[in-house]
Amino acid sequence: MSILAQNKLPLGSQRHFHKYHVPSIHTRVHCSATTTTKPKTEPNRLVVEPQVVLPTPSLSTNSARPVLNDPSLLSTWSHRAWVASGCTTVLISLAKSLAGAANSHIWLEPVLAGLVGYILADLGSGVYHWGIDNYGDASTPSFGTQIEAFQGHHKWPWTITRRQFANNLHALARAVTFTVLPIDLLCNDPIIHGFVAVCSGCIMFSQQFHAWAHGTKSRLPPLVVALQDLSILVSRSQHAAHHRPPYNNNYCIVSGVWNEFLDKQMVFEALEMILFFKLGVRPRSWSEPNSDWTEEAETPSQLTVS
Ligand SMILES: [Zn+2]
Ligand SMILES: [Zn+2]
Repeated sequence: MSILAQNKLPLGSQRHFHKYHVPSIHTRVHCSATTTTKPKTEPNRLVVEPQVVLPTPSLSTNSARPVLNDPSLLSTWSHRAWVASGCTTVLISLAKSLAGAANSHIWLEPVLAGLVGYILADLGSGVYHWGIDNYGDASTPSFGTQIEAFQGHHKWPWTITRRQFANNLHALARAVTFTVLPIDLLCNDPIIHGFVAVCSGCIMFSQQFHAWAHGTKSRLPPLVVALQDLSILVSRSQHAAHHRPPYNNNYCIVSGVWNEFLDKQMVFEALEMILFFKLGVRPRSWSEPNSDWTEEAETPSQLTVS
């Protein structure tokens, strides 16, 4: 019975239930069993009691409910080293832009290139966030860890405010290092470096902006609150909408300037349809409502400790 019930799950849920969704499976199994077994009217029929099939526990710390002081939320020296290398490559790019602008007395173009980089970083953060929220799983090459972390984030959003700085940024810092280092070595154009420095810097720190979007106003630095209120950084209210049903909007996490356009024009819905009809892959957001995205509240003990 439980196996039959599992087969009725939407494809998206089947792909992921074994790691994240014990409550959902329990509910679905129970409902299916109670509607298909009629022991009183058919006494000779084999009665199968509802049975919950528990998932195989994952070894990953991201797939289990985090606890306070969970080691998975702490920074390691490896995390710090990657963040340091990412910051170094970004700063070299910024220095090259400033030095080139000073030498050539061209300031407007590098500044405009930086502005374009800031705007496109927000778009990039949205596309990347949409991709890893909706496709793949922990076994996906290269992105598996990020996918699992973002799925866990939807289950336990509050953990991002407990996650230490380098722990939160190291994955993007590593990507920035490998992308920007060759540009640092091969390019001397101050305009290109104006774009690269700001864009890569915003992408690398997007997870910090994301963490601040989950913060409470009273606990955030006043400057951060001011930047959020000015929509220079993604606002808390805008990102809160991402964590409410239907869980398919407000993906951008740098400034959020692209969110309204992308959501009104249904850009991600169009991309999801294209991927579905071309490749037969369903995005996770189509499987709503289920527990993939359902937030688990903080327990009282977690709420009392900052
Ligand atoms: Zn998300
Ligand atoms: Zn979030």
